[in-house]
Amino acid sequence: MIGELPGVTVRRTSAFRSTAPVGGPPQPDYLNAVAEIETDLPPRAFLDKLQEIEKTLGRECNERWGPRTIDLDIILLGDLKIDEPALAIPHPLMHQREFVLEPLCELAPDIRHPILQRTAAELLAALKNLG
Ligand code: AMP
Repeated sequence: MIGELPGVTVRRTSAFRSTAPVGGPPQPDYLNAVAEIETDLPPRAFLDKLQEIEKTLGRECNERWGPRTIDLDIILLGDLKIDEPALAIPHPLMHQREFVLEPLCELAPDIRHPILQRTAAELLAALKNLG
């Protein structure tokens, strides 16, 4: 569906990984993946489109961290930094989540976090060393 949006091209997609939920109430495992996307949409307009897809796919999430049908997040957008409640880029939790960094490393291990100034591979190694 993302690739069908005007002005949006999905370049590559990682494998889908099944991961146990982090926090929240007891709930089934998630399927996680990362896609490399090219778009000429402004960041907020792109997020709006992703949220429309979430709605179409029947995302029903009444509980914070509770089970959801789909959750689409923008992780990085080039070197852009945005810090607004409705849109934070880089995603504020990306470097703390193995389920984000592992598929990201599959596609782009050398991509650099523009605030932390660490590559995805370095962030994943740091996270695994903590565990
Ligand atoms: P969640 O479903 O927990 O990912 O949170 C969705 C909310 O986070 C939405 O209201 C978005 O406006 C906000 N948000 C902030 N930054 C991002 C981002 N980088 N990607 C997706 N949603 C974001």
